[in-house]
Amino acid sequence: HACAGDGSVRRFEAVMAADVERRLRLEECLQRALATGTLSVHYQPVVAVPQREIRSLEALLRWQDPLLGTVSPAEFIPVAETSGLIDKLGTFVLREALCQAVRWNAGCAVPLSVNVNVSVTQFSSGTFPDVVRDALNRTGADPRWLTLEVTEAVAAQDLPSVTRQLHTLKALGVRIALDDFGTGYSSLAVLSQLPIDFLKLDRLFVQGVHLDARRQVLLRSVVQLGLELGFVVVAEGVELPEELSFVQACGCAHVQGFLLSRPQPPQQLNLNAPHP
Ligand code: C2E
Ligand code: CA
Ligand code: CA
Ligand code: CA
Repeated sequence: HACAGDGSVRRFEAVMAADVERRLRLEECLQRALATGTLSVHYQPVVAVPQREIRSLEALLRWQDPLLGTVSPAEFIPVAETSGLIDKLGTFVLREALCQAVRWNAGCAVPLSVNVNVSVTQFSSGTFPDVVRDALNRTGADPRWLTLEVTEAVAAQDLPSVTRQLHTLKALGVRIALDDFGTGYSSLAVLSQLPIDFLKLDRLFVQGVHLDARRQVLLRSVVQLGLELGFVVVAEGVELPEELSFVQACGCAHVQGFLLSRPQPPQQLNLNAPHP
């Protein structure tokens, strides 16, 4: 509690107030952004190894606001989640990404899918499968071109309801990835409960793995676990050739990271480019 002359308490309160103000401002601008088209979607290739072929592209929201400048999704997604804007934002990304998938697959022999991130709060009303079905219908996209990325945080939500919704989506032909695996607080039990196709290992497992024997044990064990449960294991955040060799040797079938490609606007992607 504040007492007279305690500067650190007052500084703390000032920081809190600035934080609240920033959130309110973000919320206000984000609301407007949905209407004015300052939100866009960039795509980062997910590459199969050792073939070095693009299998899918992850859709990542970008926001260039006239007042706030560039705001990172790491900052505005949490604001969207607590302010109720996430449903609109999620639907926007879903439609954008599916439109791209339709374009990519029009001239492509090998099907290319798109990965769309889903916040746990998008499952709370129980109608998320309807939102997806509607977006597929509107865009004419094949459900097999869509992979939804959910995080372990779904386990803290109403797990039976989320599981039911994921099964409904799977029945449509949509695939599911468990994102950021290993960074949450959930138990390993989610791995056997959720209908997962892909297990995405967070960058924390990958970063500097070639330099540290204990990390190597961890990575190898987690990949093995994923493979034995029948998942395709994806390594995220690969930045160095040494990291790539290591995750590949461990059994990761797909890799994603700045080494292969940064997220890019759709017009700058070269889907046929050879990858390093
Ligand atoms: P994420 O789903 O784990 O996405 C991967 C993040 O890692 C992206 O950050 C990507 O740009 C970054 N990344 C990719 N390769 C590398 C690498 O080699 N090194 C490093 N250091 N980073 C790499 P980004 O685009 O800033 O997105 C941050 C987070 O925001 C995402 O993490 C995701 O949780 C959330 N997000 C982004 N777009 C959406 C969206 O449309 N919906 C929802 N619900 N969340 C989104
Ligand atoms: Ca993701
Ligand atoms: Ca991730
Ligand atoms: Ca992440």
